[in-house]
Amino acid sequence: MAKKQSFADKANKKSQVSICPICQSEISHIKLVMAKKVNNSWRMANKPVGVCKCNEAEIYG
Ligand SMILES: [Zn+2]
Repeated sequence: MAKKQSFADKANKKSQVSICPICQSEISHIKLVMAKKVNNSWRMANKPVGVCKCNEAEIYG
């Protein structure tokens, strides 16, 4: 049993899933597309963000 657990541990580390320390849910990394107004013209900017239960309502609206 102990061996199996350590294997699962290693697999977990390899997949690099981040868990939010606040809500204990998986953080998914997405690219947020934001429109910014610069010098009277709109520019699109890609901003990488981590989304978990803490801020998903904010991000997805
Ligand atoms: Zn969270």
